[in-house]
Amino acid sequence: MFRYKTAKLRDRVTRIKDGIVNEFLIEGDSKALLFDTGLDLFNIREFVASLTDKELIVVNSHFHPDHANGNHHFEKVYIGERDLPTFTTDDVYFKLVDDIVAAVFEKYPKTKKLQKWIDRLLMTKPGNTQYVPLKDGDTFDLGGKTLVVKDFPGHTPGSITLLDPAERFIYAGDASDIDIWMFTNPGCSLHTYADEGRRYYREVAALGYTKYRGAHMPLTHSISFMRDYAEWIDRLTPQKAFLKLSVPGAKSKLCFAAAPSRKHILFTSIYWAHQCDR
Ligand SMILES: [Zn+2]
Ligand SMILES: [Zn+2]
Repeated sequence: MFRYKTAKLRDRVTRIKDGIVNEFLIEGDSKALLFDTGLDLFNIREFVASLTDKELIVVNSHFHPDHANGNHHFEKVYIGERDLPTFTTDDVYFKLVDDIVAAVFEKYPKTKKLQKWIDRLLMTKPGNTQYVPLKDGDTFDLGGKTLVVKDFPGHTPGSITLLDPAERFIYAGDASDIDIWMFTNPGCSLHTYADEGRRYYREVAALGYTKYRGAHMPLTHSISFMRDYAEWIDRLTPQKAFLKLSVPGAKSKLCFAAAPSRKHILFTSIYWAHQCDR
């Protein structure tokens, strides 16, 4: 049976393995920060209480269910200002799921049986959580350790990363990971993401950062991935996809692309054909 497992990522940083995603518990002298709350298959709040008794700050890298479904266990969650949830179709992610699910149900009525699982796994519960918006440059002082918020939009409009300046280490959420799911933000072109990736890389490289960890990455990686991935995704076209799917309710075809990389092993992405438009 699945249970949370932990691994030490760095000094005073615990990686909480949550199936397909990782949450990170970063401890200072007086406070601890939980970066993402995961899938909510178990009670993340109780689990974290078994790891630390320090005052806990909870932050989401972005508002996707595999990172935010456990939010309802907490009174307060910090999140990038452009991912601040309304739990309505004003939210990019909710609108995408709503449009596609409605169209799929209409075309294949038997799939309505899946509603319970869609609600459970794909739609984060509002709960009584207070959401506090974060701006680029905001800091968290954990006592002897300070973390800095840095925006890296694209995967979602409000994706943020956390910089640890003392360690020159970055926690990137899904903003830059092994496989960047661009289809979750259909209004963002791949070229805009590439520009953000190049900008982000330039800025953190100039500050001396060399390593980062994405939420789904099996290993810590060099920030050069961000720069090289930006070049790759900037050149993607619908024709370069190895698989294209028609999805009910979607504006264009869903494309799956992958390419080997000598330095980074593999680049992959899932995107809508229209996101290749300039
Ligand atoms: Zn995500
Ligand atoms: Zn994710």
